[in-house]
Amino acid sequence: MTDLIQINHLQKQYGNHEVLKDINLSVKDGEVVTIIGPSGSGKSTLLRCINLLEEPTGGELLFKGDNILAPGYNLPKYRAHVGMVFQQFNLFENHDVLNNCIVGQVKVLKRSREEAERIAIANLDKVGMKDFAHAKPSQLSGGQKQRVAIARAISMDPEVMLFDEPTSALDPEMVGEVLKIMRELTGTGLTMIIVTHEMAFAEEVSDRVIFMDQGVVAEEGAPEKIFQHPEQARTKEFLQRIL
Ligand code: ADP
Ligand code: MG
Repeated sequence: MTDLIQINHLQKQYGNHEVLKDINLSVKDGEVVTIIGPSGSGKSTLLRCINLLEEPTGGELLFKGDNILAPGYNLPKYRAHVGMVFQQFNLFENHDVLNNCIVGQVKVLKRSREEAERIAIANLDKVGMKDFAHAKPSQLSGGQKQRVAIARAISMDPEVMLFDEPTSALDPEMVGEVLKIMRELTGTGLTMIIVTHEMAFAEEVSDRVIFMDQGVVAEEGAPEKIFQHPEQARTKEFLQRIL
């Protein structure tokens, strides 16, 4: 497996607040990586730097070996390859479910409306939301919205999917339906980077777990190592606090 994403000495500062300090991380094609860590440790900022919603203030970000921060790199094309699912869904409220899954395909990927619709319907079917194609987001539960957000993201044929606490805004009874869809996606060979507080899920689906604390990768390793035999005091302390 080759490195799909390689992050070297990544830094992000807001004013003089150093939120990410020298992050080094590589993600291989097809790998499922989860990022855990306390609130405020920089997990969202790291994901937002990976898809360039935020511009890093230092370091390198390589995608398939190319430096995406280099001048002249085709950023719109890169962004089209990176899917993101947010805690707060970020659906287009004025579009119905089907259109939410079509607009990016037509605008960014230049697919015909017919092709985009066929792909959207197939993906809505995969997440169990085909029957809601003509509903507005406001008519859906949180779990349903998040399943639509996942269908929308995978309709763009991403090379990597980023998930930022996709179940944190959900009522507890809806967490399972979203994790089920994510679990199915992990079996498809899609590269996934998942920020989550669902530790049992992380342990089950991850190839590798990253523990972040105060803007650094404090520990990383196989799920059984991080969850059963953590080495760093702060990893142990975090896990004791939340489990
Ligand atoms: P996490 O996702 O791990 O909870 P975040 O990446 O959201 O952490 O935030 C890490 C730190 O960066 C926090 O201290 C937060 O206040 C700060 N931060 C995040 N976004 C901004 C921003 N746009 N401007 C200033 N500070 C920010
Ligand atoms: Mg966050």
